[in-house]
Amino acid sequence: VDDMVAEDIERFENSFVGINKRYRLINRIGEGTFSTVYKAEDLEYYKYNNRWDVEERERRKWSSPASKTKRSARKPHYVAIKKIYVTSSPIRIFNELELLFDLKNSDSVCPLITAFRHQDQVVAVLPYFQHQDFRDYYKDMKVSEMRLYMKSLFTALREVHKKKILHRDVKPTNFLYNKWQTRGVLVDFGLAEREGTEWHQCNCTLPPDERRYRIAHSVYAQNQQAGHQTTSYPKNDSRGSRRANRAGTRGFRAPEVLLKCTQQTTIIDMWSAGVILLTLLTRRFPFFHSADDIDALLEITTIFGRKKMKEAALLHGQVFETNIPSYSEHGHSLEKIILWCTGRTDSDKNAPKKELDEEEKEAVAFLHKLLECDPARRITADEALRHPFIMKAYE
Ligand code: ADP
Ligand code: MG
Repeated sequence: VDDMVAEDIERFENSFVGINKRYRLINRIGEGTFSTVYKAEDLEYYKYNNRWDVEERERRKWSSPASKTKRSARKPHYVAIKKIYVTSSPIRIFNELELLFDLKNSDSVCPLITAFRHQDQVVAVLPYFQHQDFRDYYKDMKVSEMRLYMKSLFTALREVHKKKILHRDVKPTNFLYNKWQTRGVLVDFGLAEREGTEWHQCNCTLPPDERRYRIAHSVYAQNQQAGHQTTSYPKNDSRGSRRANRAGTRGFRAPEVLLKCTQQTTIIDMWSAGVILLTLLTRRFPFFHSADDIDALLEITTIFGRKKMKEAALLHGQVFETNIPSYSEHGHSLEKIILWCTGRTDSDKNAPKKELDEEEKEAVAFLHKLLECDPARRITADEALRHPFIMKAYE
């Protein structure tokens, strides 16, 4: 742990009075736009959870013989403490915690253990999930490993989508994957929402990017419309507002999101999953790096061509026009893009044509179902799990 992190941890411990009574903060493991995440040891875990029960559960989970686990050894229990920035609106925080609570029985969503508030600071406590950094493996993942990764991601999305919840921010840093267990968990429900939620204009004291935040809880929406104060958020807030920039996320947005379609469904997450698979196949991360939504649309146009984008726009009552001549009418095939990105093209016209291998071709066939511009024709998580590409995961 370097000095900067140690200082940050100390500041956090001092500002959140009492946190170190229960948790020993070990390291800072994530720093995002909306939060900082720390790894910590839960010092009182065994006080609230019977030690034998816990060990028995662990043993059963890993089906290791009883003799291997020493009964007397008290393994430290790790958690992830997510410190949500105070500039996040209370509605946003409430929304995240409420959805996590709703998903608490799901095996592939990192569950919420508890949450605390001290003054205006809220922290969420989650079990620590051991995983590898995406940047350490995306460049050399075999197709057989991609199948396992995607299978795990779809298993998580199927559970979330069954509850009619849109994650909205599916990307590698929000899907913690452990390749040894071939299992991953979805985290970060900060942008998630229930299907069919209305856009709502919030209190103007909120930072600009938070203002149009969708409210998941209809009671909140009704009360606010009626002009009641529903939260204790200060009216004249003088705290500096933090600009929420979702850089790095934009490239994962589905066309209907970029085209501001008003009836977005859980299928938007499947597009994002497609961008992850495209990243793995092209070995380019981030694959798209757009500055804004228009830029993101144009990046998609480069691949799919003008014709498809015009059709996609029409589906949502929009007109797509561009006078940039470099966008071709039909775009480029995903096969070609993967070959380009992996340096398998020849400038020499007479050289033998380079091709994807059989497994890659299977992956591309499947990728087409995910990167489908028409949301109504895009594959669902449930269907994806029954697709031959994913079914082959264990063969
Ligand atoms: P943000 O809203 O700031 O993006 P996230 O919930 O995505 O916050 O967490 C940020 C990072 O913290 C993740 O990308 C991951 O590296 C780490 N992290 C979050 N939750 C856990 C967890 N339960 N176990 C291990 N690491 C975690
Ligand atoms: Mg995140």
